[in-house]
Amino acid sequence: MSIKTKAFWDLRLVDVSWQEWGELLHVLLARQSASTTIIMTPNPEQIVLAARDEAFHDCLRAADYLLPDGQGLVWASGAAARLTGADTCLALLALAHKQNLKILLVGGRYQAPDGRLRVVANGQTYDLAYAPGYQQARQPTDQEEQAIRALIAHLRPEIVLVALGAPTQEQWLIDHRELLRQSRVRLAMAVGGSFDFLTGRLRRAPTLWQKFHLEWLYRLWQEPHRWRRQLALPVFVYKKITGQWRTIDQ
Ligand code: UDP
Repeated sequence: MSIKTKAFWDLRLVDVSWQEWGELLHVLLARQSASTTIIMTPNPEQIVLAARDEAFHDCLRAADYLLPDGQGLVWASGAAARLTGADTCLALLALAHKQNLKILLVGGRYQAPDGRLRVVANGQTYDLAYAPGYQQARQPTDQEEQAIRALIAHLRPEIVLVALGAPTQEQWLIDHRELLRQSRVRLAMAVGGSFDFLTGRLRRAPTLWQKFHLEWLYRLWQEPHRWRRQLALPVFVYKKITGQWRTIDQ
């Protein structure tokens, strides 16, 4: 389904308001389609990673929709709005609840022995199917892989959300595209740590921090081990200022 995009480097970022994006999600979920819509949510760190990791770069290029998640990317691309994975997860939970659609969350290392994860958001409790997926997502065992494939084929969720960290979750989506299509999954998205906020493992930055574009700093304060990843930010700004992210027309 076509939507306005902004070319950035050789990627096409969704270039619409939050409201328009919400309306598109509604349409994507309402229809039966021959293929699964794949959504990824790059931020500046991931763009820097894609510049040196060709496989990850290919994954981003293979997605149906790339959301500019991260103020730096909105700044660098001139996209209309910052569209975050966290807000999209909230919207998907609400839409799925309303339309009675099944959601499966893969990954995230949450405790859910009964295979169900309950999260509270916007005053509503959502109950979704949950599969931790892998002990080590970068080195899945055959047994883990068979179990996840069997679960998806059996459950036939309309929505699959993948929390395995970048670039593993993006590669997972591309590698499982055919299985998702065959299982009639309508929409699948890489969600990173979005559910860490919904399960209360992490606190989302207060609105004022978000307003001043300091969400990344708030997260760094809660997860200091992420400092190394933040080193990508100056690299991103440097490459942008020196014109290295020039738009490549396709
Ligand atoms: N995660 C996982 N398995 C892995 C790596 C990450 O389940 O091998 C989970 C992690 O627990 C977290 C989510 O994936 O809930 C996002 O991880 P990270 O913070 O690295 O990703 P980001 O939010 O930066 O995309």
